[in-house]
Amino acid sequence: MTETRLTPHFLLEEFTLSSKALSMGVKNTPTQEHLQNIQALAEQMEKVRALFDQRIEITSGYRNPVVNAAVGGVPNSAHALGHAADFHVAEQTDLNAAKRIRDSGLKWDQLIYEKNRCVHISFAPAMRQMVMRQPGGPGSPVHKGLEPSGK
Ligand SMILES: [Zn+2]
Repeated sequence: MTETRLTPHFLLEEFTLSSKALSMGVKNTPTQEHLQNIQALAEQMEKVRALFDQRIEITSGYRNPVVNAAVGGVPNSAHALGHAADFHVAEQTDLNAAKRIRDSGLKWDQLIYEKNRCVHISFAPAMRQMVMRQPGGPGSPVHKGLEPSGK
């Protein structure tokens, strides 16, 4: 398997590995435009990594149009454009990792604590600094703040 290094700590394949694509037998190859977005995403994830100085495990990144359609994703979702990553930080709970990012000086579009699942972060150009949580799993309501207090 070829490896394409985007930044010191991230390979393209970490963002394009998709169990769904593998199970469908399709390649999760980015379009040229999306590849540029994934490059920018990797550069942003380097900043996230630097906050912790710990390994980041990307659990879901890019979904190309074929894969995205197969999972019922919205065509312009951040994952489908290459702007978003779901991840864990080594030796951190997802909630603590999300809090540390929230309280850092970093810029993002949406930061979502997906309980029992991952931290989701996106760097769509709007950079709205939204902070949210999704306690109920995929497809369930998203609430403002990382905790019920709204913070
Ligand atoms: Zn996500």
